[in-house]
Amino acid sequence: MDCIFCKIAKKEIPSSAVLENDSLIAIKDINPQAPVHVLIIPKKHYTTLLDCKDKALFGDMLSAANEIAKKTGVHEKGFRVAINTNHEGGQTVLHLHMHLLAGRPLSGILG
Ligand code: AMP
Ligand code: ZN
Repeated sequence: MDCIFCKIAKKEIPSSAVLENDSLIAIKDINPQAPVHVLIIPKKHYTTLLDCKDKALFGDMLSAANEIAKKTGVHEKGFRVAINTNHEGGQTVLHLHMHLLAGRPLSGILG
């Protein structure tokens, strides 16, 4: 399948992982919207949040956000996680992923 995040997960496209485990890889966003902008990407392909019923994976994604927030030192000031879903949700890459944004005040919908 011609999916950029599948290629990143399979290391067909090089990226530097902020965190990686059996179920996901977290990488820096190529077009950061905040000083810290990390994408938490499941290794298995799900097109959107609506397509995934794997509750353990949802737990893994939130645990990764917790860990990355601490690792990057933004946990005390604060951060935001978001899963854009479908067109009006702002989803541009059709492979489930979660954003972690931090490092500046985030006031609007996505800051
Ligand atoms: P979304 O709009 O929620 O689908 O988010 C997709 C995100 O993926 C955007 O913030 C892009 O900047 C980011 N992105 C797209 N391609 C890459 C890539 N090759 N490496 C890192 N981030 C990417
Ligand atoms: Zn994919």
